[in-house]
Amino acid sequence: MTGRENRHRREPECPLEESHKDLCDMTESEPSIDRLDSGTCETEVDLLRRQYLESEHRFRALLESLPKVAVQGYDRDRRVIYWNEASSRLYGYSAEEAQGQLLEDLIIPDFMRESVVQAHRAWVQNNIEIPAEELELQHKSGILVPVFSHHVMLGEHTDSPLMFCVDVDLADQKRAHRDLDFATRFDSLTHLFNRQTFENELGLLIQDCERQGHHLALVYLDIDHFVEVNDALGYEQGNYLLIDLAQRLRRCQRATDLIARVSSDEFVLAFPGLLKEADIRRLVNKVQRVFRAPFVLNGREQQISACIGVALFPDNGLAARDLIRNADVAKNRAKLDGRGSLRYFQQQLHDELVRQHDLGTQLDQAMENGEFSLHYQPQVSATSGRIENLEALLRWQPAEGPQVGPGEFIPLAERSGLIHRLGDWVMEEACRQQQVWKRMNFGEHRIDINVSGSQLTRPGFLERFESCLVRYGLAPQDIGIELTENVLIDADESVLEGLTRLYHRGVRIAIDDFGTGYSSLSYLKHFPVTALKIDRSFIRDAPNQPKDRAIMEAAIFIGHRLGLEVVAEGVENAEQLTLLREMHCDLIQGYFFYRPMPAEEVVRLLAGFIPGPEGLSD
Ligand code: C2E
Ligand code: CA
Ligand code: CA
Repeated sequence: MTGRENRHRREPECPLEESHKDLCDMTESEPSIDRLDSGTCETEVDLLRRQYLESEHRFRALLESLPKVAVQGYDRDRRVIYWNEASSRLYGYSAEEAQGQLLEDLIIPDFMRESVVQAHRAWVQNNIEIPAEELELQHKSGILVPVFSHHVMLGEHTDSPLMFCVDVDLADQKRAHRDLDFATRFDSLTHLFNRQTFENELGLLIQDCERQGHHLALVYLDIDHFVEVNDALGYEQGNYLLIDLAQRLRRCQRATDLIARVSSDEFVLAFPGLLKEADIRRLVNKVQRVFRAPFVLNGREQQISACIGVALFPDNGLAARDLIRNADVAKNRAKLDGRGSLRYFQQQLHDELVRQHDLGTQLDQAMENGEFSLHYQPQVSATSGRIENLEALLRWQPAEGPQVGPGEFIPLAERSGLIHRLGDWVMEEACRQQQVWKRMNFGEHRIDINVSGSQLTRPGFLERFESCLVRYGLAPQDIGIELTENVLIDADESVLEGLTRLYHRGVRIAIDDFGTGYSSLSYLKHFPVTALKIDRSFIRDAPNQPKDRAIMEAAIFIGHRLGLEVVAEGVENAEQLTLLREMHCDLIQGYFFYRPMPAEEVVRLLAGFIPGPEGLSD
């Protein structure tokens, strides 16, 4: 409609009623008008009319210009009286084709015909509105198109009620929704499930297995050195490898199995419905076999491998998340074994790892919380039974839970680096204690502290040791150190120099766990040591094992020939003691005499309040 045409129009009787008449006027011909000429004030009427027609024009133009809003008008019998451009695009019929056709013949799919006719009738006859709703209506080609359909009745109280349908095309929205749904459920590269979907689906599978008393195997797979493929050949080839692998894995898949890509180079597979262990092994073999054939990357054949971890339902977990995690744990263990390794999850192993981790975390806080203490274990003269020295042994009592032995936490402290602060604390505490005892006149007993390899090789340790002695007013003979053979053999020049300096100043240096290290006696003459501590294992077995007895005897003999003091540790019974006495061992340390004990108990012992031997503690 043009502005010029509008000028010839008449003012309508009722703007609303008239407006729909115009809307229904599909040919846009001039309406027949005969009541306007009698107007009182022509200019005013003209103005009103123009304004009305302009607004109607705008409305029509608006309807026409909305590409996604399809508007159709139907008469009382549901015949098309209006059909805009968007309707043509949405449903495939031109306005001419649609004109006069029945709504139900045109765009209503068969299964909806009856209900549409009834709903329309109910509106026209009983004024029951048709609510707006999301529907799928039929395109000329037969396909269904998703729309949001809104219905308006005009002139419902007249003889010719008109129904207008305003349909918004939802195809793009639906597609976007589908894409989004895909993106949230699937891995876009391989089109396998993603982790979340896998976990959800696995939950359902587990329920089935539970009902049927079946087992399920969860296989976690991690490509070896995938980063190298990416780095050397580029991401495209990396992606190609992942897609190829996904396809190979799919070939292992039965209808009930699940496969997902859970991170860049990690896949998980769930095999439900297993009955025997042999089934599990067979499936795992099947997965391993997908790597047999080389992968063609950049036109060249490449052998690719992966580490695999397996967790089983119900043995290794009842919930989907636990099973996935445990298979992942097993996979990480397999990684430690090298390329192409396979590991089954073991609860014990896992518990151990978890405990180590927890302990490691607690250990960080233990220093600040003052949870460490030193216990002391006396060494007695083999001949007289007199207490000569004390070995300081570290104890950790966490704020919660039972005591943790040094055999467990020292290696953790070594790994975390805490050993240095801890070692310094031991040194300081032993010196402080010795100072206290000296003031009490118990000071003739040397305290030996254990020093690990990493402590010794850290620059400044021996200097700190010396200055610590000075600070507490102690003599070099008051505190000794125990080192293992390996520490000495690995020591570099500067460490040896430091030790030699201490040795010449009179610090006692013992070789701990003697016989368990390199077992070469020749090195003894190069190192500045004053004592040998024969390892517990020889003492333990000596009464019954001639070989252990022979080693023990030889160690004592050589020690003496080199002018070293010989200490036997771990002496638990009279039989061992007799043997050691016969071999002229110098000092005895072990539960037969004393267990390690806290400082207060040492005081009572040295003051004569506790009769030895066999003062029990610890
Ligand atoms: P180690 O230096 O060989 O210490 C001797 C260990 O044998 C101690 O265990 C002691 O309690 C135990 N023992 C003593 N007599 C007997 C016995 O008759 N029978 C048996 N079965 N065992 C006996 P503990 O205290 O558990 O210490 C274990 C290890 O932890 C020590 O072995 C030492 O290597 C390390 N350690 C302890 N304290 C420290 C420390 O302050 N610093 C460092 N770096 N390591 C320490
Ligand atoms: Ca020791
Ligand atoms: Ca030892």
